[in-house]
Amino acid sequence: MRTTSGRYSLWRLLREGFNGQRGWSHAWAKATPRPRYRVVIVGGGGHGLATAFYLATRHGITDVAVLERGPIGLGNVGRNTTIVRSNYFQPPNVRFYEFSLKLWESLERTLNFNAMVSQRGTLNLFHTEAQRDLFTRRANLMRLEGVDAEALSRAQVKALVPLVDLDNGRYPVLGGFLQPRGGTVRHDAVAWGFARAAADAGVDIVEHCAVTGIRRDGARVTGVETARGFIAADTVCLAVAGHSSELARLAGIVLPIETHVLQAFVTEGLKPLIDVVLTYGAGHFYINQSDKGGLVFGGAIDGYNTYAQRGTLPMVEEVTAAAVTLLPALARVRVLRQWGGVMDMSMDGSPIISKTALAGLVLNGGWCYGGFKAIPAGGFTTAHLIAHGTPHPVAAHLDLGRFAAGRTIDERGVGPFPWLH
Ligand SMILES: Cc1cc2nc3c(=O)[nH]c(=O)nc-3n(C[C@H](O)[C@H](O)[C@H](O)COP(=O)(O)OP(=O)(O)OC[C@H]3O[C@@H](n4cnc5c(N)ncnc54)[C@H](O)[C@@H]3O)c2cc1C
Repeated sequence: MRTTSGRYSLWRLLREGFNGQRGWSHAWAKATPRPRYRVVIVGGGGHGLATAFYLATRHGITDVAVLERGPIGLGNVGRNTTIVRSNYFQPPNVRFYEFSLKLWESLERTLNFNAMVSQRGTLNLFHTEAQRDLFTRRANLMRLEGVDAEALSRAQVKALVPLVDLDNGRYPVLGGFLQPRGGTVRHDAVAWGFARAAADAGVDIVEHCAVTGIRRDGARVTGVETARGFIAADTVCLAVAGHSSELARLAGIVLPIETHVLQAFVTEGLKPLIDVVLTYGAGHFYINQSDKGGLVFGGAIDGYNTYAQRGTLPMVEEVTAAAVTLLPALARVRVLRQWGGVMDMSMDGSPIISKTALAGLVLNGGWCYGGFKAIPAGGFTTAHLIAHGTPHPVAAHLDLGRFAAGRTIDERGVGPFPWLH
């Protein structure tokens, strides 16, 4: 008997339409955990599911379980502002995120799932001459790496986003940089698409199975304690986003990560207003419009350590002040929802995809603000690391050893201060 819903196609849709939609089954099977797996992935978010998918489909490793403590998709993969782009500053990061953007471009065919990949462009505004220099350097670096980046004048910014108040009292806009291939992807479709495709490829997706301990024999991992009993594994991969340091601590490892909360907001549905992803360079504010019409926006982390999935009012005030400064028309818009996600903030603002001091324990974490866009590349390269025991070339710079060796990849140039990244 089929346990997942099979291949989606126009023909299938038509057939089910005539059959009263009776032929569909679950998008992925709810597996009961077996006592032993070759690979156990902790965390059924974007990175955990993508890692499982690529292990099964690229490396033929299907003896894999993804253990998720809740239902699939309620972590950050379903809480983010859906922005994808590769306009980073450090060349190895540009290459990594560009690799991810290229994977996004063919992802829907790969997964046979509509993830609503929308390359509507990401526009970063600048407000001082120093910022213009910085963005110009960044754009030139990107172009040297073969990545798209265009400089826009004030008039071009206004033509692209007529709502922007170029001469706003706080930080007048001097121009912008556009990455035309950046955009948005429907966040929870990514979780569902990877879960369904991984389950189809033979992976066990086990929901409501919190990992409570990591068992070791000397310097080697042997499995995980869970709410549903002990599960043995040759390799354990932690892909738990904001909980990396907590899980690593269970294995006796202290990570260079702090946990913070990041908020996001969505307004009532509106007619089309903004058809790019817009970033305000003067504060930390970014906005796009969802396909349902809601304006989705966010700002910086709240700035204190927490595991709570909700933020505080001062940041609400800061984000809305930035919103109405840049786009005064938003003052009349009603915000429908606001929520928070628990984030791993690494000490250099760059992620970690790495083996650890415990043999068999692999880490995918430290995603800071940017882990959604990295899901395809994160999963692809973590699967490579598990399958081959060596890092994928595009993620080799993301090893844990860089902190001890002083090879940090300081993306924002602010040093080991996570709240400043
Ligand atoms: C408000 C907000 C906006 C954001 N906006 C963007 C954006 O626009 N673009 C972008 O690129 N990034 C963005 N991010 C960051 C991005 O969402 C994250 O970096 C990324 O989703 C993290 O990876 P993940 O999907 O695997 O995480 P998650 O979906 O959080 O997956 C981790 C999973 O691990 C599970 N877990 C934790 N502990 C255990 C345990 N003990 N046992 C079993 N399971 C466990 C959790 O339940 C969770 O489902 C944003 C984040 C937030 C919070």
